[in-house]
Amino acid sequence: MWFRALARYFNLFPCPLCGEGDGDGAGLLCPECLAALPIVPPESPHCPGCGGVPDGVLAMCRACVRCGERPWQDAATVMEYSGEGARFMKRFKSGYAPELARPLGYLAARKIRKLGWHADLVIPVPLRFFRRWRRQYNQSELFASRVGAELDIPCRDALVKLPGGGKQAGMTRAQRLKNRLRFAVKDPEILRGRDIILVDDIFTTGSTLAAAVKALRKADPRMIYVLSGARTPLRRTLIRRLRRG
Ligand SMILES: [Zn+2]
Ligand SMILES: [Zn+2]
Repeated sequence: MWFRALARYFNLFPCPLCGEGDGDGAGLLCPECLAALPIVPPESPHCPGCGGVPDGVLAMCRACVRCGERPWQDAATVMEYSGEGARFMKRFKSGYAPELARPLGYLAARKIRKLGWHADLVIPVPLRFFRRWRRQYNQSELFASRVGAELDIPCRDALVKLPGGGKQAGMTRAQRLKNRLRFAVKDPEILRGRDIILVDDIFTTGSTLAAAVKALRKADPRMIYVLSGARTPLRRTLIRRLRRG
């Protein structure tokens, strides 16, 4: 107790987001930063496609209904990718703020416990080698390993990204199909019959996760859940573009 008080006095555990406040000694956020984040409340109903809050009468949100392809059992997301949530994720993605994995992992684990998911493995969506090399770390990998640590589940880097899947802007439909994102499983044996949580940093259209799930399915796992740090609210223009393919 006295140690806590002393630590607080000298600010030994600053909040990893604002650098001030009291990060509570576990790498978590100060109450002010926590309150400012657009966290998707763990107890509210969620869209099983993306983990966001449903915005219509259906169980799925409108973006998921329109975009189709959600080949997983359930989805969860920690926060909305807007305002302070976008600022948090941009900093985490920059490659120079690994300390943000801890609060993000903590919040995600709290959510997963609430949802009652059972899982044997946590698997991050891989980055391409070049991007990985340019940044200091793969944020999804760091996030996934924190979630694994919080839930006491092993985290395995089981996927590899195959060539292709670059920027789609300006491509024809045929070119896009050819340029599709593809993944492969490194060691199928560890996935057979297992329940998996697949982790990505940001959920935008869900196409990256869908491609990763396609590869995982070949290894015959039992359940696949997807988890993201933040979900981008889909704009109407993007939805229209997706429907056109
Ligand atoms: Zn703070
Ligand atoms: Zn959704």
